[in-house]
Amino acid sequence: MLTATLGLPAKPNTEPQLAVALIVAGIVFLASFFGILTRPVGFLAAVWPANAVLLGLMVRNPSYATVSGWLAAFAGYITADLLTGGSFFVTLWLTIANMTGALTGYLLFRLAPESDRWLQRPASVLHLFAICCAVALSAAIAGSGAARLLFGRDLLGGIAFWFITELVNSLIILPVLLTFPGFRKLRASLPASLSLATVQHALPMLVLVASVALAITLGGPGTLAMPIPALLWCSLTYRTFTTSVLTMLLCTWLLISIPANLIPLPELPDPLRSLDSLRLGIALMALCPLTVASINAARVELIERLSRAANHDSLTGALSRGAFIERSEACLRVNRDHGTALLMLDIDHFKNINDRFGHAGGDAMLKKFVRLVSHLLRPSDLFGRMGGEEFAVVLPGLDMIAATSVAEHIRQALEAQALEMPSGGKVWATVSIGVTTRAPGQHTDFEGMLLAADRALYEAKGAGRNMVRVGAQQAEAAAPTLN
Ligand code: GH3
Ligand code: MG
Ligand code: MG
Repeated sequence: MLTATLGLPAKPNTEPQLAVALIVAGIVFLASFFGILTRPVGFLAAVWPANAVLLGLMVRNPSYATVSGWLAAFAGYITADLLTGGSFFVTLWLTIANMTGALTGYLLFRLAPESDRWLQRPASVLHLFAICCAVALSAAIAGSGAARLLFGRDLLGGIAFWFITELVNSLIILPVLLTFPGFRKLRASLPASLSLATVQHALPMLVLVASVALAITLGGPGTLAMPIPALLWCSLTYRTFTTSVLTMLLCTWLLISIPANLIPLPELPDPLRSLDSLRLGIALMALCPLTVASINAARVELIERLSRAANHDSLTGALSRGAFIERSEACLRVNRDHGTALLMLDIDHFKNINDRFGHAGGDAMLKKFVRLVSHLLRPSDLFGRMGGEEFAVVLPGLDMIAATSVAEHIRQALEAQALEMPSGGKVWATVSIGVTTRAPGQHTDFEGMLLAADRALYEAKGAGRNMVRVGAQQAEAAAPTLN
């Protein structure tokens, strides 16, 4: 069985080789069949998605790019052409040309940085353009003889036509495949119901449709560029995948409408050459929204990284002290009419852990503690590192009994689990916790709550550690749940 992957680092391949071969052959067959159906008699197909689809498939799934995967693609091309009446010799030549383009693109993507493959960097679209040019040129050179034989075009005319067709198809189709987020993520990002916010979010898309309608109505040579402002708005609003899909739909519509005379354009001097020029122009136009979308994606990612670094403790990932206090104060304001609880947690004898296992051992314990506590909290709870081995938790909506029970769960969970130290050996740690609450309608500010929880924590330490204590005035209410 042929399993050596040609190229990009592959995820472990869990699908059997036969299944992979059938998937690749089936997809290439369907894409080729579609291209053949749209092929005017005596011409190469103007819409030929198979090569871009094959390239996108291999780049997204490097584990498919085995020798058997490429042979399966070869079989897909040949079968589609032979079934639709192609002669074996010409079919073979066209297929070799198609495969040459896809293989060239695949090998070039290997050289590009990984983020380029998802169009996530400002320069990604330019790199994509360069790769698409190389794909188109290699396929055009490999296939130009067949074009001459089949359609009587001169060699240079054949290369130019093939190059333009291949470039247009790959520039329009590849971005969609490269940025496809997967069906699950896509479904999760769709709105569950129609609301005002959904309509607002769809506004750039609606304006795009309106500007296409306006372009058709007005006509003239400027028609092609009229939807660009709306498309740029889309690329600043939506993720790169959505922009790629909208760009593909717009360009495909233009590519079909112009030869079918659906858009009123002025009389063209040399129709065949003008059409090639228009198709090339449309494909190059697609680079603008894609570039804006990829710059925007890089910007959004950078802001997310910066905001995470600013608001979270770099060692443990818990909220940093400043962000925790800010969010807790906001949470108290929002929950004025509901109860809110605050826990202060301090790992016991932490200094001993540092002394026995070094600073790295202490750090490992801090990380384990944060993981453990995070698992026991709800998404709406706030969890911050106040400094050293001291943490705090805000539990919106919980009264003293419920909050004490959460604290007790944390205490018991830590006590029960040993931590494997990086330097070898196991350690069991314990934690002391102080609890305070603010009843509905009460006006204690966050600072006051911190003081009360800190006092309760101090009592827990004084009483022997590894225990939960509530603030003195609230102790009576929670007494039954304390250890
Ligand atoms: P207690 O039971 O009374 O809380 O005793 P303790 O030893 O836990 O408390 P103490 O305040 O005496 O010691 C806290 C130690 O935590 C001292 C400090 O070196 C260590 N520490 C603070 N920040 C970090 C950190 O980020 N990593 C590590 N490994 N240690 C830290
Ligand atoms: Mg401590
Ligand atoms: Mg401490």
